[in-house]
Amino acid sequence: MSTGALAIVPVRDGILPLGGEETIAEGGGSALLVGTGVETAAREMVVQPAGRLLGWEAGDYRPAAWAEALFDTIAPHAAVILPASPDGRDLAPHLAAVLRRPLLTGAIRLTFAEHGTRVEVARRGGLVGELYETPVPVVVTMQPGVRGVDPSVEHREQPPQLELLNLPFSPTSSSGNPELVEIMPPDPATMDLGEAPRIVAGGQGLGSAELFARLGKIATALGASLGATRVAADAGWVPFERQIGTTGVAVKPRLYLAFAISGAVQHTSGLGHPDHIISVNLDASCPMMTMADLAIVCDARALIDELAGRLLSSTDVET
Ligand SMILES: Cc1cc2nc3c(=O)[nH]c(=O)nc-3n(C[C@H](O)[C@H](O)[C@H](O)COP(=O)(O)OP(=O)(O)OC[C@H]3O[C@@H](n4cnc5c(N)ncnc54)[C@H](O)[C@@H]3O)c2cc1C
Repeated sequence: MSTGALAIVPVRDGILPLGGEETIAEGGGSALLVGTGVETAAREMVVQPAGRLLGWEAGDYRPAAWAEALFDTIAPHAAVILPASPDGRDLAPHLAAVLRRPLLTGAIRLTFAEHGTRVEVARRGGLVGELYETPVPVVVTMQPGVRGVDPSVEHREQPPQLELLNLPFSPTSSSGNPELVEIMPPDPATMDLGEAPRIVAGGQGLGSAELFARLGKIATALGASLGATRVAADAGWVPFERQIGTTGVAVKPRLYLAFAISGAVQHTSGLGHPDHIISVNLDASCPMMTMADLAIVCDARALIDELAGRLLSSTDVET
């Protein structure tokens, strides 16, 4: 039995889920990307595993059959860890069942002691931390956005090569697979903010719930989700699940548009590494503007009115 962890990250169409790289960093061992587009996902990774980087092009999501096919590969690892993303949360119990191991969900920290694994899990909505020290092998899901990424893991000079696995696998080999009928794109207006690829967010400078409602419509017109700072959520202009940051949601958008947001560290630490940041602010030198690829110095309220006029129907602009 290996003492190291194996991080298993389900991949769809070459896209790593929220918390995927964080899980690899936290495990500190090898990583296995499984799903569709694993080579693309491996190329996009900022984090490199300390051990081997494995990939299995397994096709459409078949959690029970995947678990059976993966048994020999994963059984030697004392800790098998997955991000608590939708697919990770779903695959983990299948792996625990075939391995006949306990499953610890929602972990916020994972360490290895001489006699086993120490897993700290968050309970009661994050109010309570419970510590489990287990000498037996486990399967664990990691809460995204809690631990971040160790920079020393991030900058390895010689990243491991992706080793593609060729596993014997029959999609119908297990009765526990859901039948895939259709994959429907998520609605940006209601999807989990943590999974949103584009976010349009507002801050204290917008000044009212009405302007946030209008910004939400602009976000929808742009195929983006609405986010906010804590100040805006505390003021009641948006529900708390829209708050981004250390005490809100950890997000991982590719595109982030910030309207009247100063860029306090408690906000930006929950932002991930967007490919593009656009910031609109009256203060050209605030942190959000210095982080931005495109910094627009203007009145964000006026720009929202202008965008609403161009992107929304007249009924939407009025409401
Ligand atoms: C323990 C703790 C946890 C916290 N957790 C979070 C968290 O999870 N998320 C979070 O966001 N914050 C968090 N905060 C709060 C954080 O420190 C900041 O106070 C907050 O992020 C600032 O929000 P803001 O940018 O909307 O407001 P401000 O900092 O007040 O900035 C408003 C910005 O709007 C600009 N502006 C004003 N009017 C206009 C206009 N008409 N047009 C264009 N620009 C304009 C201003 O120049 C300014 O840059 C936390 C704080 C603490 C102490």
